[in-house]
Amino acid sequence: MEDWRTGQEILVMEGRIKVPYRWAAGETGTRYLQALRDEMRFLGTRCPQCGVVYHPPRRHCPDCGTECEWRELASRGVLVTYTVVRRHHSQLTPLDIPFAYGIIRLEGADTGFLHLLHEFAEGELRAGMEVEAVFATEREGSVRDVRYFRPLREAV
Ligand SMILES: [Zn+2]
Repeated sequence: MEDWRTGQEILVMEGRIKVPYRWAAGETGTRYLQALRDEMRFLGTRCPQCGVVYHPPRRHCPDCGTECEWRELASRGVLVTYTVVRRHHSQLTPLDIPFAYGIIRLEGADTGFLHLLHEFAEGELRAGMEVEAVFATEREGSVRDVRYFRPLREAV
């Protein structure tokens, strides 16, 4: 590999960092993940002071510190931004390519979260388009209980 401007050789080191970890989801995170796992529902929280609806839920408003209230959200929302992955990597591709990483703002929420997108045609994804969640058949209390989001298919 060489620097395209100077022609100077650039050496590339390949390596791998694997960092297994475990953490307790806490009271708020546990309630959120239970709703995904057991009822396939998204929960957010609303700050009664600012009126901001957070998803993923926050127990306390990060802006004013007020304790938030639970609120149910839709399982569809708007794709805020995304990047498509077209290159397969045996360890790093959670879905068949092409898939995308995107920021999704669920209907009823003011904040977005990162998730996967799949089942889209080449060139179909657009910022601002509506997407819907596809839940896993077997769920275990993780954000991956949502397999991915896909462009909203209107019910026929
Ligand atoms: Zn607030």
